[in-house]
Amino acid sequence: MADWEPVVGLEVHVHLKTRTKMFCRCELEYGAPENTRTCPICLAHPGALPVANGRAIEHTITLGLALGCEISPHAIFARKNYFYPDLPKGYQISQYEAPLCGPGAFAVPTAAGDEVVGIVRAHLEEDAAKTVHAGGSTGRSVGASTSLVDFNRGGTPLLEIVTEPDIRSADEADRFLRLLRQTIVELGVSDAEMEKGTLRADVNVSVRELGEQGYRPRWELKNMNSFTFIRRGIDAAIREQIAAYERGEQVAQSTYDYDPDTDRLTVHRSKEEADDYRYFPEPDLVPVEPPPGLVERLRGVIGELPAARIRRLEAEVGFDLANELVATGNEGKAEQLAAEGVEWRTAANVAMNQPDFLAENAPALAKILQANVTRDALHAAFAASATSVISADEYLGQTAVSDESALGPAIEAVIAASPQQVEAYRGGKEGVLGFLVGQVMKETRGTADPKVVNRLLREKLRQS
Ligand SMILES: [Zn+2]
Repeated sequence: MADWEPVVGLEVHVHLKTRTKMFCRCELEYGAPENTRTCPICLAHPGALPVANGRAIEHTITLGLALGCEISPHAIFARKNYFYPDLPKGYQISQYEAPLCGPGAFAVPTAAGDEVVGIVRAHLEEDAAKTVHAGGSTGRSVGASTSLVDFNRGGTPLLEIVTEPDIRSADEADRFLRLLRQTIVELGVSDAEMEKGTLRADVNVSVRELGEQGYRPRWELKNMNSFTFIRRGIDAAIREQIAAYERGEQVAQSTYDYDPDTDRLTVHRSKEEADDYRYFPEPDLVPVEPPPGLVERLRGVIGELPAARIRRLEAEVGFDLANELVATGNEGKAEQLAAEGVEWRTAANVAMNQPDFLAENAPALAKILQANVTRDALHAAFAASATSVISADEYLGQTAVSDESALGPAIEAVIAASPQQVEAYRGGKEGVLGFLVGQVMKETRGTADPKVVNRLLREKLRQS
């Protein structure tokens, strides 16, 4: 049986964070009452003229730069013609032949190196309005008794990022999307919240035999809005395509919906060819020609991106912890503690477990952490540091007991009271040591230094 290689490409749609719509001055507000954010332009009254939103263009350039894209000096809006009730103009304004952001690449750090995903293009367009299907049993257009349109969303600035088919697994797609989402949010160009629909993805999946050149027909999973469903949808498509090929069948290019309840794919509709849309340049809009000064200014305000931060912290704490710190947004807290002299790994673990301390408490916490105070004192310091400015002196008095003669009796008592565990440890079960350390901590009411207890226990158990 052949070895199969999945081939995955993504089209990611991002609602840009602007005050107003792409081509009119209607305000954007998620959850506003239906059809209260409309005007003659976004409702396509005859004669109404669009004006491009400058902020949306800036956001597109900013994100394009973060994706390593070339920024076009001359981008053109086109009309993409199709009829749908949520598109009153009968066409969508979109960049087609001349998008604002050209080829680029986005590197996703992993422990084994970068997974580099090529970016074909990122282009600016307007979103359609929202159709709500009511009645019927499925909540979908098929079988619904009524369909209503909310035009509030119509005309929202939408950036579509198209990747090369460089992704080789559902996990890789997941890593790419999560890092892309974090990058987008940090740049401030979008909230990118899947549950609100401000980040959606179409996923293209095909498989081929390992070593095979070229691509086989692909399935497009439309409008995916959950990381979990995207992963499961990709896996379902890979599974079903491989099964079809191994039965000797062909796979036809098609569009699918993923049903999370059954974990199955159902045919959505056959794929339109691109030229069905009869694109032509939008005569009511001038070309977008960003001056070089603007591009350089936007490049200048992009700070250190998450991928670069993961790589920088990896040198301090290893890949996994660095990745986790950046994914949870806790790396700043770790850096504050490390800057105050706390050993990097300790700083990272504290930042992961106690991320709520106020920034101005970093110096006090660093002193307390390095002074080896009791566990209780440490927990009290962490609790207080989340809401008020603390003084290190208050906690430094409660130093953990590391004096060997003071700890001796407690250790003897625990060894005497735990014959089974002692025997198990001597029989090679190293893990039992944790239990014995815990017993000594209990015996000393948490005042002992666990590192010293650990060492003394090992010594004692070796001797007797
Ligand atoms: Zn409007």
